[in-house]
This record gives sequence, structure tokens and C-alpha cells, in this order.
Amino acid sequence: MRTASDAVQIHGGYGFIREYPVERIYRDARILPIYEGTTEIQVGYVIGQILAGALEPVLDELMGKASASPERKSHEEARTLLKRTAAAVAKANDKHLTQLLARQVVDSAFDLLAGLLFAVQAPQSEKKALAAGKWMRDALPRMRMRAEVAEAGDRTVIDRAEDLL
Ligand SMILES: Cc1cc2nc3c(=O)[nH]c(=O)nc-3n(C[C@H](O)[C@H](O)[C@H](O)COP(=O)(O)OP(=O)(O)OC[C@H]3O[C@@H](n4cnc5c(N)ncnc54)[C@H](O)[C@@H]3O)c2cc1C
Repeated sequence: MRTASDAVQIHGGYGFIREYPVERIYRDARILPIYEGTTEIQVGYVIGQILAGALEPVLDELMGKASASPERKSHEEARTLLKRTAAAVAKANDKHLTQLLARQVVDSAFDLLAGLLFAVQAPQSEKKALAAGKWMRDALPRMRMRAEVAEAGDRTVIDRAEDLL
């Protein structure tokens, strides 16, 4: 979806109007987080699985396969950040706050999984090795931010929704 949106932007006004196929590509991509289960519904399911520890064996296996990666330290820091983020959500023990913060955990889980998959593939080519490093350098600041957001546990949009609207 983001790639299709970038394509619209790159084509400027022609990307937006119906005379060219780019807007159609964007609309076709925009449906992906809606059908086959909206993102929110999927996140609601996945957060339960992550908090129950379902990801741990997958991470163990991938960390093992990527153990010789130059990104090893980044993967370890990322796993700690993911644990911190998930722990903050689990500690909240509140349905609404869990729902509000679930995306932080799920997105960080994706960042780590993607980084590990790049690292596993890195020995195949220089391009993949470059991607493996670049991904983790970009992902870590995002993951630190998500851990902070989850630990802050700000309830304003839950408790003061009426006042905000
Ligand atoms: C082009 C297209 C093709 C489709 N094809 C099929 C098909 O082949 N088979 C089929 O079965 N269906 C199909 N659908 C339907 C599709 O699965 C639904 O549109 C989708 O499940 C979302 O349901 P909804 O449209 O009722 O939105 P709603 O359920 O009303 O959701 C609206 C918004 O509220 C959020 N939301 C709803 N409930 C919650 C919750 N509990 N927690 C947090 N957020 C929530 C959603 O994430 C979403 O952002 C298709 C839809 C489209 C547009």
C-alpha cells in the first residue's frame, strides 16, 4: 500500500487522476488492510498470540539461523525492545489500553522478524546483506519509540475521548 502511495506521489497529478493506471493500482492496494480481515481485527488476534509467547520459538529459530550475522547485536537489542513493549501492554491489563497499544507490539514484532529474515538471506548476495543492515538501522529507532509509547501507557484518547472530539 505504501509503495502504491509512493507511486501516486512520484507521478504527481497524473498519479491521482483516473486517466492513468496508477490511481487504480493505489485503490487496489488500499483494500488490502480491509478485506480478508481488517488490520485492526488481525492485530487484535496477533497481540493475544504474542502476549501468550507464540512468537518465541520462531524468534529462537531465526536468531539461531542468523547467529553469524553482523547485525547480531541489533537483533538482540530489537528482541529486548519487543519484550519491553509487550510487557508494558501485558502490564496494562486493560482491554481498551491493550487494543490501543497492540499495534506498537505487532509492528515491532514485524520489524524484528523482517530483520531476521533479511539476515538469514544476507549470505546469498551483497544486495541482501546491505538490506539486512539498513533494515535494522532503520528499525531500531522505530522500536525504541514504540517501547516508550507503550511504557507511557497514555490513556487520554480512552479517558478523555469526549473532550478531545
Ligand atoms: C472489494 C471487496 C471484496 C470483498 N470480497 C469479499 C469476499 O470475497 N468474501 C467475503 O467474505 N468478504 C469480502 N469483502 C468484505 C470484507 O471482508 C469486509 O469489507 C471486511 O471484513 C471489513 O468488514 P466491514 O466492511 O464490515 O467493516 P467493519 O467491520 O464495519 O470495519 C470498519 C472499521 O472498524 C474497524 N473495526 C471493526 N471491528 C473492530 C474491532 N472489534 N476492533 C477494532 N476495530 C474494529 C475495522 O478494522 C475497520 O477499520 C470484500 C470487500 C471488498 C471491499
